[in-house]
Amino acid sequence: MKYVYSFSKERAEGDRGMKELLGGKGANLAEMASLGMPVPPGFTCSTKACDAYYTLGKSKLFAAMKPEIESALKRLEKATGKTFGKGPNPLLLSVRSGAAVSMPGMMDTVLNLGLTPTTIKALTKSSGNERFVLDSYRRFIQMFGNVVMGVDHHEFEHELAAVKKARRAKLDTDLDVAGLNDVIERYLKVIKKKTGKDFPTNPMAQLMDGIDAVFRSWNNPRANKYRELNDIRGLLGTAVNVQTMVFGNSGENSATGVAFTRDPSTGEHKYFYGEYLINAQGEDVVAGIRTPQQITLKGSREWAKSQGISEKDRKADYPSLEEVMPKAFKELDRIRVKLEKHYKDMQDLEFTIENGELFILQTRNGKRTAQAAVKIATDLVKEKVITEKQAVLSVDPGALDQLLHPVFVKASEEKAKQIAVGLPASPGAATGQVVFTADDAEAWAAQGKKVILCRTETSPEDIGGMHAADGVLTSRGGMTSHAAVVARQMGTCCVAGVGDVEINYKTKRFTCSGVTIKEGDWISLNGSKGVVYKGEVETVEPSLTGPFGTIMKLADKYRKLGVRTNADTPQDTATAVRYGAEGIGLCRTEHMFFEGDRILSLRRLILVAETIKRLREEHGIEDLAALQKAVSKDKKAVDAIKQYKQAFRELLPLQRKDFVGIFKALKGRPATIRMFDPPLHEFLPHDAAGQKEMAETMGVRPADIKKLVEALHEFNPMLGHRGCRLGITYPDITEMQTRAICEAAASVKGSKPEIMIPLIGNVKELVNQKAVVERTIADVEAKKGVKLDILIGTMIEVPRAALTADEIAKEAEFFSFGTNDLTQMGCGFSRDDAGKFLKDYVAMGIYEKDPFQVLDQAGVGKLVEMATVNGRKARKGLKVGICGEHGGEPSSVEFCHRTGLDYVSCSPFRVPIARLAAAQAAIRR
Ligand code: ADP
Ligand code: MG
Ligand code: MG
Repeated sequence: MKYVYSFSKERAEGDRGMKELLGGKGANLAEMASLGMPVPPGFTCSTKACDAYYTLGKSKLFAAMKPEIESALKRLEKATGKTFGKGPNPLLLSVRSGAAVSMPGMMDTVLNLGLTPTTIKALTKSSGNERFVLDSYRRFIQMFGNVVMGVDHHEFEHELAAVKKARRAKLDTDLDVAGLNDVIERYLKVIKKKTGKDFPTNPMAQLMDGIDAVFRSWNNPRANKYRELNDIRGLLGTAVNVQTMVFGNSGENSATGVAFTRDPSTGEHKYFYGEYLINAQGEDVVAGIRTPQQITLKGSREWAKSQGISEKDRKADYPSLEEVMPKAFKELDRIRVKLEKHYKDMQDLEFTIENGELFILQTRNGKRTAQAAVKIATDLVKEKVITEKQAVLSVDPGALDQLLHPVFVKASEEKAKQIAVGLPASPGAATGQVVFTADDAEAWAAQGKKVILCRTETSPEDIGGMHAADGVLTSRGGMTSHAAVVARQMGTCCVAGVGDVEINYKTKRFTCSGVTIKEGDWISLNGSKGVVYKGEVETVEPSLTGPFGTIMKLADKYRKLGVRTNADTPQDTATAVRYGAEGIGLCRTEHMFFEGDRILSLRRLILVAETIKRLREEHGIEDLAALQKAVSKDKKAVDAIKQYKQAFRELLPLQRKDFVGIFKALKGRPATIRMFDPPLHEFLPHDAAGQKEMAETMGVRPADIKKLVEALHEFNPMLGHRGCRLGITYPDITEMQTRAICEAAASVKGSKPEIMIPLIGNVKELVNQKAVVERTIADVEAKKGVKLDILIGTMIEVPRAALTADEIAKEAEFFSFGTNDLTQMGCGFSRDDAGKFLKDYVAMGIYEKDPFQVLDQAGVGKLVEMATVNGRKARKGLKVGICGEHGGEPSSVEFCHRTGLDYVSCSPFRVPIARLAAAQAAIRR
């Protein structure tokens, strides 16, 4: 096994393609070295060595690796003309971590390794600069003491501060030789006191211990947490880069800095963005020990202006690199252009200047905001650096979310007082007045107020209020709680599961971390970060044009998969169309029943539905008018029939109006409309007060309502009387809905409804409902004298339906995979209860991702694939789509592309994400 790979101008054993093995830093150092860039030579111990460190153990690995290190060191000595551990020209090293995926600042680095009493003497002599040598030594002790020997760095900082104070030195650079000697003496004492050991003076032992520490740092809690948060998995470990030191701390003609080839927050490249410090080393620039200076003159002037610093002071105290070291600056600027062209992306680089000579220490594709990502991608196409396809691939679809929601004005958010943190359930920024009920949210919003709805958790009854609210806060529930799912679908900002918040509905207050917030008080939510602020924070609307629009156009050019939306209202539909939806993939009709008085009509219907069913069976008569005649002597029965008819009379025009609005918003695009789906009890009041109120409105006794609620109670409603099962028991519902759709379609030219029967498991269920739908279509066509073009299809969400897709396809004109239910029933995870164990499952790797968020391709995906193939065998050209939460999740979208689906459907705010993910899938294949 080869563990060690050298890099130098003369010979680089690695290249940029070897990130998995050499880590990003190591691979790019090798690449830059072979491009002839000024990279200090060195060698990389591979990630395989790190893996062996953990699997074989340290001693076995080191026994195998040490000879390789020794020969790499020899080569390094030859290349540099320096010697490790000896004079006259001692070689000092940096020992740097670097995994395949960058984890900035998470693992450890040791600089100036190889300093010992012997080499200190030699270096002092060869450099003629004692102060510089001592400065390097005190840095080495601190880093090695911390990283390798485990001494807390506060211990060192404490001593440094003490010496600075005693010597009246403001900055580190103000310390002279005597001062630095004082620091070193104290540092060595700290080491002895804290570890009981002397600071090591054997250079080879220093090196092996340094490598050991970096391998160890792969598993420090900080690094583990970072990988968990950023979903980084499957890496072997970190590589260790051992590199010749170059010294930015060797005097006034030396410096160190970091730079971005373009602005990482906006993507602009008006000038070269970066900061540097004279006479400094390592992370001094980022650590903020002195005020860093700008690289370019232009940038420097802009910076000074923002800081209120005069041109005179700027020039004297904070001059740009361009002014101070023009030669090195020119070289750096040349390298900036070369690196961007070579890597075809914005670069984040680290450099050091030693006595006027420039060295590049690191380059990588820079992290950026979504705004910068689209700007950079479109600019690079214009500059002919990358192709359109490469531009499409360069933007992370998940990050587009940031561009679609109102965002806080940065300065305003920084000033705001944070009062709690919860889950970032639905991204965006919201600011508004606190209300505690959905009704209040609607009422206040109707008065033009901005509101934040605060609930312990939400339920379907709160939908109206959630829609009206600018933001939603819940104190319970996770990322797949009702509040989270619905808010994401609506694009409403939501922070869920804020455990610190204690809501008191009676007093209309909540408390958290000692603060009390009353109804009407202002709070602000950052749904992308899960943060709650007290008071108002200023927001701005996102723009859909510019570079974002350009990337979206390119995505549409290359994608093969259609993108539709899940929308239930004209308003959501219009939003989705603006975001590029090509139709509705799922219109959930039941949400329409919650609004205003409609719920009363529906409740009236539910109240008598069972009676009607019984009467029909007793008399063997389906037709309501005939039935009414037959029971005319039974006042109660007649009354029930009247109520039933009345309910439908009320509901029909309301539904028709909804569909008219939706068809208009769609402007000729298709709409898949799902027939009534949830169990009826969801629409009934469950508390005594609500039941009393319903009883009064319906003219019955509260006890009757209570009995009704009890009768409709189910132990497992998700597997109970819902979906097509309702339509089969109460065909009038299917008929009314179909009629509303048909009449709306007849009145809006170009409407393309597609009627979808939910929760089919057996083809006979579909045959039953299809008969009702077809009969109703024919009736409307006859009455209106029109010809309607309406597809009838089904949702595939019960595993049995997927298994018998060939039979079902004979009756269905389209399939839409309802992957929420299909996951629930396929995995056997109740969506409402899975919160208790799923997180652990994911942590343990039993499931790699939450299957409700990311389609379980190996299991549920197989059902989708099989049903698609078998369905199309039975019916050529069967249209197939997906309408679960997964329709807007990039890896699931890629799966849909691969499986040959016609479209995905997702919430309006995810439409651009799906468009981009679909394009990427098409380009990658
Ligand atoms: P991180 O991954 O945390 O950025 P690095 O390995 O890049 O850590 O090291 C941090 C800093 O140490 C670098 O930005 C650079 O300033 C300094 N450094 C690393 N290697 C050398 C070197 N060979 N010579 C001089 N400075 C170095
Ligand atoms: Mg770095
Ligand atoms: Mg379903």
